[in-house]
Amino acid sequence: MSVYLCPECDLLQQAAPVAPGSSVHCARCGFRLHRAQANSLDRTLALTLAGVILFIIANSFPFLSFQMQGQVTETTLSTGIVSLFNQGKGEVALVVFFTSILAPGLQLALLLMVLVPLKLGRFAPWLAQLMRLFRHLRPWGMMDVFLIGILVSVVKLTEMATIVPGVSLFAFVVLIFVLAAAQSALDPEIVWQRVPLRPPVRLHPRAGEAVLGCETCELVVPEAALRAAEADRSCCTCPRCGSVLHHRKPLSLQRTWALVIAALAFYIPANVFPIMTVTSLGNAQSDTILSGVIFLLNHGMWPLALVVFVASIFVPLLKLLILFLLLISVRQRWRWRPVDRTRLYRMTEAIGRWSMVDVYVVTILVALVHLGNLASIQAEAGAVFFCAVVIITMLAAMSFDPRLIWDTTARPAAPDPPAP
Ligand SMILES: [Zn+2]
Ligand SMILES: [Zn+2]
Repeated sequence: MSVYLCPECDLLQQAAPVAPGSSVHCARCGFRLHRAQANSLDRTLALTLAGVILFIIANSFPFLSFQMQGQVTETTLSTGIVSLFNQGKGEVALVVFFTSILAPGLQLALLLMVLVPLKLGRFAPWLAQLMRLFRHLRPWGMMDVFLIGILVSVVKLTEMATIVPGVSLFAFVVLIFVLAAAQSALDPEIVWQRVPLRPPVRLHPRAGEAVLGCETCELVVPEAALRAAEADRSCCTCPRCGSVLHHRKPLSLQRTWALVIAALAFYIPANVFPIMTVTSLGNAQSDTILSGVIFLLNHGMWPLALVVFVASIFVPLLKLLILFLLLISVRQRWRWRPVDRTRLYRMTEAIGRWSMVDVYVVTILVALVHLGNLASIQAEAGAVFFCAVVIITMLAAMSFDPRLIWDTTARPAAPDPPAP
């Protein structure tokens, strides 16, 4: 029997091992606690190796080329990032670099560094640290969102010029699927079961005993046993992966409130200021997020207009409203529908990244279109504010602790250990 502590509703439960392909879900809130995979090591390793090759191709060859009146501009994946830097939008350039190149590349490298020694039957002492980093990077790789950004950019430019896809683009598209498949083929247990516990500690909790759950490696430890085992009493770090353990995320409500208010404050300039200026044959025209949606609508591209409207205007606002509702509900100690409120929380975590589409569109457009007075595109202040809204709302969702929703409905929560 395996012991699970649900990270979303804090229910302690145990389940028998399940067949490969099946999942263990929380009995109370429905969160997926574990998914068993057949042949996980070999499949993940094969997909990772394919991913590394595709990643190298995607970053080495022309990505898209832009042809207008005999002039050709070729871009690679990183051209837009360099252009943003040169236009004084370094903050946006850094975010785009991190989410579209660095995070996916690091994920592949980390998987390789973890899986190769495992396949060779060797124990690498840094296994736990690498897996921990891999786990933290996961929400920040956004190649799939970048792909939607490419689609929108190409549609926007079709009237102005001819866009020719390069070798890199094909590698990039396949890489998105390969990396997603590698992530879902990986059963983290195959790694974690090789990591020894430091200090060695009793794992199976006795009836009624307070336990601590690790959000990174999913280990469940009886708190008393861990406090007894940790010599310096600076309780508590996970004996397996080294993450700091808490009953609840520290200062969750204060942090989430602060981030929600900051995101709301940035949401206004993000929509009022233009995100880019298009200069074509000497005429300059500034575009806000909303006017970009209207442009797509006027050109009969209503499916893309809908995608951009939902991703850029509707989703950030919806996310902030949901977080606001959750914060109020916890503060007022509502007992109303905890399962549905937990689902709402899970939704805000899943949808937030899609708002990056417009940031990627600006990046791709400034990379492709820089032919001086003939045609050029400049990123504007709205893009910086908008990028800040997306990142801050993602951080707000991460800092909210959904277990607080359940604290008023379940047994009183054990107090957090005092800070060392
Ligand atoms: Zn649960
Ligand atoms: Zn851990």
